Amino acid sequence: MNTIQDRIPLSNGTSIPCVGFGTWKTPAAEATSAVLAALEAGYRHIDTATAYGNEQAVGEALRQSKVSREDIFLTTKLWNPDQGYETTLSACDKSLSALQTDYIDLYLIHWPHDRKYFDDWQQKNLETWRAFEELYKAGKVRAIGLSNFRPRHIENIRQNCDIMPMVDQIEFHPGMPQEETVAFCRACDMVIEGWSPLGSGRIFDVPEMQTLAEKYGKSIAQICLRWAVQHGVVPLPKSVTPSRIRQNAEIFDFSLDASDMSLLDGLTACGWSGLDPDDLVY
Ligand code: NDP
Repeated sequence: MNTIQDRIPLSNGTSIPCVGFGTWKTPAAEATSAVLAALEAGYRHIDTATAYGNEQAVGEALRQSKVSREDIFLTTKLWNPDQGYETTLSACDKSLSALQTDYIDLYLIHWPHDRKYFDDWQQKNLETWRAFEELYKAGKVRAIGLSNFRPRHIENIRQNCDIMPMVDQIEFHPGMPQEETVAFCRACDMVIEGWSPLGSGRIFDVPEMQTLAEKYGKSIAQICLRWAVQHGVVPLPKSVTPSRIRQNAEIFDFSLDASDMSLLDGLTACGWSGLDPDDLVY
């Protein structure tokens, strides 16, 4: 990978730009200008979700941008209360309308239903997945995937699906390497996207990060993003600050050596969001 526009193949023959632009907690009032700044800085992959309340504003940025729709990879996510067959179909139509587009490049189930709150969690996730397969066959979405799914959730889909998910989007940053889920996804030919690649900012006061930033003459954010890209994980940095948006794209003029990759792999218990698919209140 040499630029943020370089693409990683997905198992269905499409491909995904190797860095995305996050929009969680970006208020709708700022989302249009943030996404326009990202497109200007060279990002071609935008990550939103129904739950973020900014799909309309993200769609507006795509409409205003000089970059053609075909060159932009747009992801959105089905929100938890919309899980189920019919509800998924109508939620996707609402997202398409809010985003002002004919198709979504990647549609994700935002969180799995899980055993703590749902006796029928496997069935519920499968009903939703059946709707995802329909949306994919209808051409409304060009790739389908999961988010926050752990191996047991993926295995349930794998054993019962017609079309395998192409992606799992999980929390991934130094301190949260999620080795088990990453290895499981790789074995299933699924690409991993890393959410909160900067630990939502919680990583910035970790001393090892500061030491590495000084060693490479880069910012801590750039070290985190470079670590993800070298792992073949697609990071989704979020910012509403144009200078940071640009900085986060400048990660292809250096590489972390093997010992520093290992050092970052070995960091434990820093930057975790506290969000856990096993303990999510729906
Ligand atoms: P990040 O890990 O990307 O961190 C964003 C924070 O870091 C913001 O406060 C931002 O500030 C700041 N920041 C960004 N770049 C820099 C920089 N170069 N220097 C200093 N500070 C910087 O956070 P998110 O938690 O937003 O995760 C990224 C994306 O992942 C989300 O936006 C969303 O798209 C996705 N996501 C998906 C989830 C899921 O369940 N699937 C869950 C959580 C996130 P500022 O904006 O003020 O510049």
